[in-house]
Amino acid sequence: MKEEDFIPVAEPWIGEKEKEYVNQCLEEGWISSKGRFITEFEEKFSSFCGVKYGLAVSNGTAALHLALAALDVGQEDEVLVPSLTFIATANAVRYTGAKVVCVDSNPETWNISVSDLEKKITSKTKAIIPVHLYGHPCEMDEINELAHDNSLSVVEDCAEAHGAEYKDKKVGSFGDMGVFSFYGNKTITTGEGGMLVTDNKELYERARFLHDHAMSKKQRYLHPEVGFNYRMTNLQAAVGVAQTERLDELIQIKRKNAQLYNNLLKNVKGITLPPEKPYVKNIYWMYSVLIEKEFSLSRDELIEKLKDNRIETRPFFVPISNQPPYSDQPLCSVAEELSKKGVNLPSSTKLTEEQIQYITETIKTLSNQN
Ligand SMILES: *Cc1c(COP(=O)(O)O)cnc(C)c1O
Repeated sequence: MKEEDFIPVAEPWIGEKEKEYVNQCLEEGWISSKGRFITEFEEKFSSFCGVKYGLAVSNGTAALHLALAALDVGQEDEVLVPSLTFIATANAVRYTGAKVVCVDSNPETWNISVSDLEKKITSKTKAIIPVHLYGHPCEMDEINELAHDNSLSVVEDCAEAHGAEYKDKKVGSFGDMGVFSFYGNKTITTGEGGMLVTDNKELYERARFLHDHAMSKKQRYLHPEVGFNYRMTNLQAAVGVAQTERLDELIQIKRKNAQLYNNLLKNVKGITLPPEKPYVKNIYWMYSVLIEKEFSLSRDELIEKLKDNRIETRPFFVPISNQPPYSDQPLCSVAEELSKKGVNLPSSTKLTEEQIQYITETIKTLSNQN
C-alpha cells in the first residue's frame, strides 16, 4: 500500500443504488418525512431482522428514547444498562427521568454480565437494555428469563449489531423492542437515522404515535400527550433501502476481514482476539482486540504508534459508571478493565487484504521493537 494512504476505522460504502434512489426522491419531490421509501425501508429492514413492525426514526438515540417512552418508563423507575456501552444507551434512560443502573461486563463476551444483572434488579427495576457490543450478541435466553421472572421489559440496543445472530435468530427479535442506528460509522448508514423494530403491535402503534408529535388520529392538531419529532426523511430512507439490499454482503465482508485479522494476529503475545461464542454470529462491527500486560506497548502507546503509521484506531468506550453525569454508579471493575485494554482496529468494509496485512505487520513490528 501507498505511504500516504490513511486507513480509517470506519467509512460508509455508498453505491450506485443509493444515488439512484435519492435522485428518485428529488425528482418526485418527496424529500421530507412522508414517501414511499420510508415504508419500504421499514418493511425491508424489519423483515431482514425477522420482526413484524419497523418504525424509521431520526437516529438511534431517538429510537432508544422512544422505545422507553412507549413502555411508559418514567421517574419512578430504574433501567439496567451495561456500563461498557456508548453514552447514548444511558442518556436515553435519563431523558425519561428514570434512574440508570449500571451493570458490569462479562469478561468473555464483553457484554452485560447476567450474574451482575441479576444482583442489580430491585422492586423499582422496569427494563433492561442489553447492548450487543461491537457486534457480538448478548446472552439473550438468560436475559429474557430474568426479565420474565421479574416482569421486566427488554429493549435490545442493536446499534452495533445489524444482522448479528444468537442461536440462529437475528438480534432485534428477542426483546420487547429492538433499536438500531444508521449513523455514518455503523454497518449500514442513512447519514443519520435509526429504527425501532418489534413484534408487538400495541408498542409499535404507541411508538408511531409518539414519534410524530402524538397527534390524535381522530382530530388533526389535537395532541393528547406530549410527543416528539423523531421522524426520518424519505431521502434518508432511500439511502437505507439501498444499504439494506446490500447488508448481507457487507456482513460477509466484515466477517471475512475478521477471520483474516484473527489468523494474522493469533500468535502475537499479549493480544486477546475478539470473542465469538459457538452459538452466535458476531458481525464484527468493530474488529476489536485487548492489549494485555504481556504486550510490549501499552494500549495508548500502540494507538499513538499506529497513528504515526497512518492507521486510525479507537479506544474502547469509557464506562458509563466513569462518566461525570453518572458518577453515582457502583464500581464496574470488569468494564473498567476492558475499557482500558480494548482497541478497535480499522473495520471498514472497504479494507483490502493488503491493508489488513499492513496493519497486522505494523502491530507485529511494534511488538518486537521494545
Ligand atoms: C451508535 C450507538 C447509539 C446511538 O446511535 P445514534 O444514531 O448515533 O444516535 C446507541 N447505542 C449504541 C451502543 C451505539 O453504538
